[in-house]
Amino acid sequence: MQSRVALVTGSTSGIGLKIAESLASSGYRVALHGLLPPEQKSDFSRYWQETTKQDMFLAEHDFSKPGKAIDCVEQVLHHFKRLDVLVNNAGIQHVAPVEQFTLESWQRVIQVNLNSGFETIHQALPQMKARGWGRIINIASVHGQVASANKSAYVASKHGLLGLTKTVALEAANTGVTCNAICPGWVRTPLVEKQIQARAQAHGTSIDEASRNLLAEKQPEHQFVDPLDVAQLVLFLLSDHAKAMTGSALTIDGGWTSQ
Ligand code: NAD
Repeated sequence: MQSRVALVTGSTSGIGLKIAESLASSGYRVALHGLLPPEQKSDFSRYWQETTKQDMFLAEHDFSKPGKAIDCVEQVLHHFKRLDVLVNNAGIQHVAPVEQFTLESWQRVIQVNLNSGFETIHQALPQMKARGWGRIINIASVHGQVASANKSAYVASKHGLLGLTKTVALEAANTGVTCNAICPGWVRTPLVEKQIQARAQAHGTSIDEASRNLLAEKQPEHQFVDPLDVAQLVLFLLSDHAKAMTGSALTIDGGWTSQ
């Protein structure tokens, strides 16, 4: 257990960072990944070192470019010589009606949210199978199960990620490797902060009012999901009690998809 290695993509902020911290405090050696502005790197490294007592290993591949997620896994394998846990978490949002969605924005969202998940799994799975143990967890979304207007690429990417999760689960059955997805509702991270700001601007309201309205519209429990609670679900999926779970989509959404 001490020597198990986990890669969490998109772990320089938000949900991914909380997952990475939780894995580190559970004894995993963690490979971080994400895009950090150069001026934030030394503060981030200090924060990581102080919080986890681990030296920072940060892969900085831009997943909007095809093939870079494969390179990312290769870099992790080269450094750690193994990869036991893969959390596909990197993700972006773009909001626009479908007829105004540019081809470039569509491709960027699909590449980062879906294609990169295929790439990392493609590259990581063989050595997990060979070792007879592995856990793949895809951070999808409620938008893997239901849609919202103006989020065509995001919704398509997250529905696709659930399809990929189920297929990999079938292909990896009886190898010791499981593949599951987690589907959060609203979690207050930089990704959602942008949407709250856009909403406040569009309706001429305060940030507080915009965030209350955002929750009221979709999430019956009018509170943001805590990123730590998402991280705890990840830890459960890594535990021995989850060995019979594969191909599942675990919803943590304050009732969003019960409507
Ligand atoms: P965030 O913006 O805080 O973090 C996104 C991470 O992805 C960062 O580490 C960033 O560096 C990385 N990233 C962004 N673009 C990238 C690129 N081109 N190449 C490589 N890495 C890139 O967002 P978050 O809210 O923590 O989202 C994490 C995941 O959770 C995403 O997949 C998102 O779709 C999903 N999710 C979020 C919510 C929510 O309400 N916040 C809800 C459901 C699902």
